[in-house]
Amino acid sequence: MMSLRLPSIDGLLRHPACAPLLERHGRESLLASLRWLLDELRASVVNGHLSAIEISPEVLAGRVGERLAQLQRSNVRRVFNLTGTVLHTNLGRALLPDEAIDAVQMAARYPLNLEFDLASGKRGDRDDLIEGLIRELTGAEAVTVVNNNAAAVLLTLNSLGARKEGIISRGELIEIGGAFRIPDIMARAGVRLHEVGTTNRTHARDYEAAISPRSGLIMRVHASNYSIEGFTARVPTAELAELAHRHGLPLLEDLGSGSLLDLTRWGLPAEPTVRQALLDGADIVTFSGDKLLGGPQAGLIVGRKELIAKIKKNPLKRALRVDKLTLAALEAVLGLYRDPDRLAERLPSLRLLTRPQADIFAQASRLQPALADVLGETWTVSAVHALGMIGSGSQPVARLPSAALCCRPQVSKRLRGRCLLNLEAALRALPIPVLGRIDDDALWLDLRQLDDESAWLAQLPHLQVAP
Ligand SMILES: *Cc1c(COP(=O)(O)O)cnc(C)c1O
Repeated sequence: MMSLRLPSIDGLLRHPACAPLLERHGRESLLASLRWLLDELRASVVNGHLSAIEISPEVLAGRVGERLAQLQRSNVRRVFNLTGTVLHTNLGRALLPDEAIDAVQMAARYPLNLEFDLASGKRGDRDDLIEGLIRELTGAEAVTVVNNNAAAVLLTLNSLGARKEGIISRGELIEIGGAFRIPDIMARAGVRLHEVGTTNRTHARDYEAAISPRSGLIMRVHASNYSIEGFTARVPTAELAELAHRHGLPLLEDLGSGSLLDLTRWGLPAEPTVRQALLDGADIVTFSGDKLLGGPQAGLIVGRKELIAKIKKNPLKRALRVDKLTLAALEAVLGLYRDPDRLAERLPSLRLLTRPQADIFAQASRLQPALADVLGETWTVSAVHALGMIGSGSQPVARLPSAALCCRPQVSKRLRGRCLLNLEAALRALPIPVLGRIDDDALWLDLRQLDDESAWLAQLPHLQVAP
């Protein structure tokens, strides 16, 4: 075998083929990548796997260029969410409206009055930036905002119930994905769990019997991600509030999604509103910013002024507070709620949730030929009706009538599973990864959320499905 001499690092660094890389990535990065490549090549030489062409400076510059481009590519990537689940926790939940994106840009670029009262020139409080809007939209006396609703629940429990008992129905001791379980959060908050009733039925007398001098609060949790049907009983919030107040206890209600408006006006399933929970007598209501509200990740704690003041004094509040970008986005999103008539046009999550099935089906029919063409004879692609979900634990049983491109492999049953996984992987490997769902021996691309049709079509020619 002919023995090969690898080019020197210095030689490569000065070679015209590397000049554009030097210009784009800088000397340090280029040097590091050249060293990495030469180490790889030395290993290949030892194994006798190299030819003269593979070590020409042009080829080496090409390989180093690819690696540098790869290293430079962001890990945070845009994707197409065609899973059918609109508020998908793993895909970032709600999409922000332009108004909020502009507000985030402003807050990122310039100094701002985050904790500064421009009227008095004195130190301010970041919660004040949205308090007026929250009072107007929910009827609450006061508000404080933290990092997410899990934090809101933890902070509220710890502030109002530490070293005391928290009374809660057994049917509401839920787990909300990941590691958020109500009994664990209560324990971490220092609240002793006192569960009452049974999984399917809890009565007012169950709560009443549990109340003692050790009681600190009564809690109600919206069973977001599961539903109990059949022989069930639940004490209405108004009755539970009356009972709590008769014994001098606060009633906390964790609404989860916590919608600000009645969604049935847009033909969506009914969700309890924050205003109604407060009207019914809940003293504190907690809910997420990025579920049905359609804003940034945040946890909102609203309710009675003296209780909110107590929560704000808890040192944990400082550890869980939100940053200026979140507050800027939240204020802008809340502002849109002042004009409910135009909300469905302006708030992306609501616009997507209310997109008519006929619209989505027309889009599926329009795109079907292009996908069928790219996938070739191995697949049948059809435009079909499909059922999606709101997601994020809102209305687990409700389905959103939608439409999808349904891809079925025309292969023997034995090969189908592999075929579907290959298509799924190929879609994920596109410049803007496309995420669908596999169900019933087919891959479904639910088009409810396909806004940017031209970008989706433009990358189809890159689709390479392994055989
Ligand atoms: C989603 C949810 C939470 C957690 O909210 P995050 O904003 O995801 O932290 C807590 N409680 C209920 C009832 C929920 O639905």
